Amino acid sequence: MNNQPLVYLDNAATSQKPETVIRAVEQFYRQQNANVHRGAYQLSEQATRAFETARTTVKDFINADSEQEIIWTRGTTEGINLIAQSYARPRLQPGDEILLTELEHHANIVPWQIVAEQTGAQIRVVPILENGDLNLQRFGELLNDNTRILSLTHISNALGTINPVAGLIRQAKEQGAIVVIDGAQAVSHLEIDVQRLGCDFYLFSGHKLFAPTGIGVLYGRKALLEAMPPWQAGGEMIRKVSFSGTEYNDLPFKFEAGTPNISGALGLAEAIRFLNSLDRKALARHERALMSKAIELCSAIPGFTRIGQPTAGASILSFQLTSHHQQDVGLMLDQQGIAVRTGHHCAMPLMETLGLPGTIRASFAFYNSIEDVERFAAALSVIAQGGS
Ligand code: PLP
Repeated sequence: MNNQPLVYLDNAATSQKPETVIRAVEQFYRQQNANVHRGAYQLSEQATRAFETARTTVKDFINADSEQEIIWTRGTTEGINLIAQSYARPRLQPGDEILLTELEHHANIVPWQIVAEQTGAQIRVVPILENGDLNLQRFGELLNDNTRILSLTHISNALGTINPVAGLIRQAKEQGAIVVIDGAQAVSHLEIDVQRLGCDFYLFSGHKLFAPTGIGVLYGRKALLEAMPPWQAGGEMIRKVSFSGTEYNDLPFKFEAGTPNISGALGLAEAIRFLNSLDRKALARHERALMSKAIELCSAIPGFTRIGQPTAGASILSFQLTSHHQQDVGLMLDQQGIAVRTGHHCAMPLMETLGLPGTIRASFAFYNSIEDVERFAAALSVIAQGGS
């Protein structure tokens, strides 16, 4: 990039893809390409088997109870929209409350605003503390008998806060609410066990987990999914169609109208196999080392101000340089071949709370090296001292 080796520090936006994932997608198109669930011929049967095996891989990865609880989506955003329209819309009424937090990505705000408008339900928002942790006392106060849905992010994409979701889920369930967890940022950093967490829905996107774009997962508890009407309609999601009425397919196909992203699902399964072949605890240790190094080196840079210092944080460093506009810093880092994100990170309400137009965000993945961090900090230091 700009005649420099790339240092890719925008992993919270999307991740780079391992060779094996790229090969799995290529191999599908070269050797396995056929539509699934419909062909009377061997190639289609093979594609179907690979596609459904990918579902099992995802089920095992997050420890869901059955494949029927794994719905393919385009990503986290589509999953939340599905829950808002299929679970929430028929159930909510005036007086009901949807509890969100100030840390949410727009994908976990706007679908709820739409369903609130459609049903007369109200949105309540748990504030954060100065360090970017959730205000747990306010959470306890805002959770009440009217709370029907708690929907919150597992890890904040803007500040890196790891929310203590297990305890929050327990409290919300005791109040009779259902709980939706936005796992878009969490799946690549934490080991997820949906049964242990006890959430009702868990969502993530393949592309942040070293898999292709356009594939994602909605996990839902079977009893809830069974009670929900289909969201989108068409082929695949039906058992029998006639002009006098249509019988829907069983789970999970009831929520998968149209030809799915077959190669994406195979790529996602391959990404999971790739991760499973590594020592995830060692990867987490390495990412913590990257974060510590980044904080240590950046803290010595004049005008460096970290935004949010969560008690438990993921590999996300949000900051500003007092001497420079955040967008300029992004452009100057890019000139050195260093990719970071600048702006509101699709979390405008959070930026409003922080009183900031945006931040600069460096986000790390296990494949980043200490040298990446050193080049980033050295370039930032030059910028802070007036160079470029
Ligand atoms: N939620 C969080 C916390 C995110 O970071 C993102 C993406 O940045 C999303 C939701 C939306 O994910 P996607 O665009 O893959 O649907």
